[in-house]
Amino acid sequence: MKTMGYAAQSADTPLAPFAFERRALRPNDVAMEILYCGICHSDLHQARNDWGWTVYPIVPGHEIVGRVTEVGSAVARYKPGDAVAVGCMVDSCQQCDQCRKGEEQLCRQGNTQTYNSKDRVTGEITYGGYSKHLVVREEFVLRVPDGLDLSRAAPLLCAGITTYSPLRTWNVGPGSRVGVIGLGGLGHMAVKLAAGLGAHVTVLSRTADKQADTLALGADRLLVSTDKEAIKQARSSFDLIVDTVPVKHDLNPYLSLLDVDGTLVLVGQIGPLAEPTTVPLIMGRRRIAGSPIGGIAETQEMLDFCAKKNILPDCEMIRIEQINDAFERMELADVRYRFVIDMASLPAP
Ligand code: NAP
Ligand code: ZN
Repeated sequence: MKTMGYAAQSADTPLAPFAFERRALRPNDVAMEILYCGICHSDLHQARNDWGWTVYPIVPGHEIVGRVTEVGSAVARYKPGDAVAVGCMVDSCQQCDQCRKGEEQLCRQGNTQTYNSKDRVTGEITYGGYSKHLVVREEFVLRVPDGLDLSRAAPLLCAGITTYSPLRTWNVGPGSRVGVIGLGGLGHMAVKLAAGLGAHVTVLSRTADKQADTLALGADRLLVSTDKEAIKQARSSFDLIVDTVPVKHDLNPYLSLLDVDGTLVLVGQIGPLAEPTTVPLIMGRRRIAGSPIGGIAETQEMLDFCAKKNILPDCEMIRIEQINDAFERMELADVRYRFVIDMASLPAP
């Protein structure tokens, strides 16, 4: 099927209209018209080749909400008209221990990413959600629960699950003391989800500018991470800290904020770390961990949880032609708190 998208042709060219083909339906495929797509900082990293593995042209986008238009002959769970969603993965081996446990994001053979990844059948590079249509195998399609506003649900598919998964892994619930470093797309979802799970939530932001937002999002307080005295006062007061900062930074000041057995979980994909010292790790039996998105079953659980608790991202809706401006603003942390592309602004081919 012919479709339209927006692609970058190199690390230093802006995204521009790009015509391409979506594959013909395999028996287990679902085809959808994309209605909304969130803009994740990973899209920016990958369009600019920050991680060194981008294949051009790249069509980013992995926070996708749409409606089913057609299904393959073997598809049982979806029918045309269904409200559906796709996140960061579109395939995995489905055989290994991790896939069998529902942790497809940890597939031993590597999961197939929604964009800039190799299709497992043809080896072609996958193209993401900054486009009009998408074809994905049934197992990687999520159902958008009734009652979840389609125009705001898209960021849940990456920002939502990437913060929900570590909160669940580290058993966050009533009484947990959770810190969130960086109040951006992931950070604001971490706040809403942790608060929804009953935790006491603290935002660690570079300035006090987001003080009012912090409380409105459901957190209990904001700590200015550059205020040495405030940070000293908060020593040993967190069970879990979720670090969403998208650039290299010093972890040492944050490690002492953890209580005994506390964990600092990195979700920002920043590559080499500034040197952490072993002293706070050993003295407090503290841990540094990482976490990638979440499995498909957990993503559905998160969507259902958000529908039940009425948790939705704070979105700024843009038209597709504003995408390059949105990238620049995201780099300056000038978004509260997630850009979402209204795909009606992209004409069909
Ligand atoms: P974002 O919306 O741009 O938010 C990042 C936040 O970090 C900003 O709002 C800002 O918060 C803080 N920040 C920005 N620049 C900073 C700097 N120079 N120094 C210190 N703090 C800074 O980004 P996002 O979409 O949430 O993504 C965050 C990171 O997570 C990215 O690296 C992305 O690739 C990664 N990611 C990982 C996964 C995964 O599976 N692990 C999934 C999705 C995304 P304040 O202004 O409040 O300080
Ligand atoms: Zn993402």
